[in-house]
Amino acid sequence: MERIIEVEKFSEESSFESSLRPLSWKEYIGQEKIKKNLQIFIEAAKKRGEALDHTLFFGPPGLGKTTLATIIANQMQSAIKIIAAPMIEKSGDLAAVLTNLEEGDILFIDEIHRLSPAIEEILYPAMEDFRLDIIIGSGPAAQTIKIDLPRFTLIGATTRAGMLSHPLRDRFGMHFRLEFYKPQELAKIIANAANKLGKAIEKEAALEIAKRSRGTPRIALRLLRRVRDFADVANEKSINVERTLEALEALGVDERGFDELDLRLLKLLAEAKGRPLGLSTIAAALSEDEGTIEDVIEPFLLANGYIERTARGRIATIKTYELLKLSPKMQSTLF
Ligand code: ADP
Repeated sequence: MERIIEVEKFSEESSFESSLRPLSWKEYIGQEKIKKNLQIFIEAAKKRGEALDHTLFFGPPGLGKTTLATIIANQMQSAIKIIAAPMIEKSGDLAAVLTNLEEGDILFIDEIHRLSPAIEEILYPAMEDFRLDIIIGSGPAAQTIKIDLPRFTLIGATTRAGMLSHPLRDRFGMHFRLEFYKPQELAKIIANAANKLGKAIEKEAALEIAKRSRGTPRIALRLLRRVRDFADVANEKSINVERTLEALEALGVDERGFDELDLRLLKLLAEAKGRPLGLSTIAAALSEDEGTIEDVIEPFLLANGYIERTARGRIATIKTYELLKLSPKMQSTLF
């Protein structure tokens, strides 16, 4: 079953999200530091008539990396080509994308940590010297053909800063780490989205949804969509807080945005009584894959102090013992 608080896009969500995607800085709420810096760098590049430096965005899924790339393209008045790294399987795939770019275009590669080393090698001269080196033939008769590329901007997005190779990371002129959003910021995103959908929402209702959205706009928009269904079925013109609470309860999202999987993970760690658990042990115990735990579940729990990552594995914090109302006896081995 799909988790309501899953951060990856559900299949039917792409068009819904695109219709709500902010196109200007004004509509892009939060991440103030990143916004401020990017605005300066964009203005400087425009003044010089140059393409923007290659830019890398780190951060959990659904925090607005793709949205930032589209706003940058808008501001630079450039075309943007969006591609996910797993789609680039062969060197020819990347060569085709690169040779189709035009001067000043933006190439957005999502999940860039998933590029194969062979494909990365092709990207290096493309990023540094705007040159494509194509090897034809093999063995002693092999020849390298060099093709000049237009000056483009590569924007890379990754959920895993640690998995990006150093040579690739170093070729990005700018690095930005996105942060989880505050409930007030998410409430604003929810109110703006409701407005675009032609449905009014009470301030308090938007805040209730925001608090349960794990600091993530994608989840906030998804919850809004479901809550709107409840209001529509009840023939209510606007979304009120009572209907919102009823819907959230029915969806099984608790007041922290945790669902059953989060609670199972926290319980597992708490029951280990301070013994650090490795990722593979956790994944096996929860019957989930390691990537989902590391990319999707953990970041929010880590950012909010429910778990800690040590060199030997993950441990629960006092906050988790308190949340699960576990006996102080269990804590005593830990603290
Ligand atoms: P990522 O690329 O990090 O997975 P997206 O850029 O696709 O995330 O964001 C998911 C959706 O959330 C977008 O379609 C957009 O509507 C919304 N969103 C993300 N960040 C913001 C923001 N700062 N302000 C308003 N809406 C946002």
